[in-house]
Amino acid sequence: MILLKNATVVNADGMCETDVLIDGETISHVTPNIECFGAEIIDCEGKLVFPGFIDMHCHLRDPGQTHKEDMESGTRAALAGGYTTVCCMPNTTPPLDNPAMMNYIRTRSAALDNADVYPIGCITRGQKGAELCEYGRMKEAGAIAVSDDGLPVSNGAVMLNALKYAKTFGLTVLSHSEDKSISGTGVVNAGENATVCGLRGIPKAAESAGIARDVLLAEEAGARLHVCHVSTAESVDIIRQAKKRGASVTCETCPHYFAATDDEILSYNTNAKINPPLRASDDVDAIIEGIADGTIDVIATDHAPHGFDEKNKEFDYAPFGTVGLETAFSVAYTRLVLTDAIKPTDLCRLMSAAPANILGLTDRGRIEAGARADIVIVDPDAEYTVDARTFKSKGKNSLFDGWRLNGQITDVFVKGERKTL
Ligand SMILES: [Zn+2]
Repeated sequence: MILLKNATVVNADGMCETDVLIDGETISHVTPNIECFGAEIIDCEGKLVFPGFIDMHCHLRDPGQTHKEDMESGTRAALAGGYTTVCCMPNTTPPLDNPAMMNYIRTRSAALDNADVYPIGCITRGQKGAELCEYGRMKEAGAIAVSDDGLPVSNGAVMLNALKYAKTFGLTVLSHSEDKSISGTGVVNAGENATVCGLRGIPKAAESAGIARDVLLAEEAGARLHVCHVSTAESVDIIRQAKKRGASVTCETCPHYFAATDDEILSYNTNAKINPPLRASDDVDAIIEGIADGTIDVIATDHAPHGFDEKNKEFDYAPFGTVGLETAFSVAYTRLVLTDAIKPTDLCRLMSAAPANILGLTDRGRIEAGARADIVIVDPDAEYTVDARTFKSKGKNSLFDGWRLNGQITDVFVKGERKTL
């Protein structure tokens, strides 16, 4: 048994000073002044104790691109960032589009025993945007949701059918909403900085028009839709209005969309080449507003590891993406909590409770008696400089490399077991 003494426990609905007793794989008691003979005692004075973070959106590159990341390095990176559950996107080689692949991810996750990994199955076979996968059999084999992240379903009729079909199995569609005919060959946000740099722009409507379509299709289907990596003011507004109408729509943003603007591209830093692209400051403000008013439900990482040589190219030729698992908490804590935009309880909602709720992971996302003992302890006063070279992830392509951040993960428990970070 493990006893967390003097803990400041942060749940989505409140914070309290208490002790937490872990018995085996479960939290058995959450009350002040627990005495437990023989328990290992961890003094949490001055620390914040959150339910383990849950990342709804990361890329572990396994199978097929394991020079970028694999299940082992990816789950160790997850633990280092306080994530006890992560969901991996299916754009692997081959894509995760059948039950055997779901089985592979779940089996490998159990064998590694780091962060718990759930696969997200493809919407369409091979992410080709035409034929739907077998959602029922994929769900039985462990799929937690479906998505064609990276290669959005361009055909509206296919997307409508996918939403209806997913609904019959109680699966949520995670949509990378983008109209590729609008984004074209763009590499950065269309705007002043794109012009200054001489880089091709991606109009904001590529994202917001895609989201508008998917929201309307989800309402038509009466299905649940979760919109991935929202980055523009218009996108937030579309989702805000849909929620007011009562649509079953949720959404996420990522740390880079509230902590950075497209000024990052002025140095041609390819780690700032991300899709959707980093936006201008008015969009960043709208994202923070959406987080604060609850329109944005979740902070996900969109952790996208790449090899050094792949990113170390001319801007036009480098792949999109930044790693994020090992910095998400600190970036969010520094840029949202310490600026008083949100409270620690909101951060718990965004990084743990809401993802658990959306994904139907009813045994986690909360510190309470009976819950799975997935716990992260953070030192809110710690300040450090991000050094990507020290990451557990194989991907060192971090937009946040060199940033000064507050809030550091000190201990992580998965199913009651204290993990080495
Ligand atoms: Zn995406």
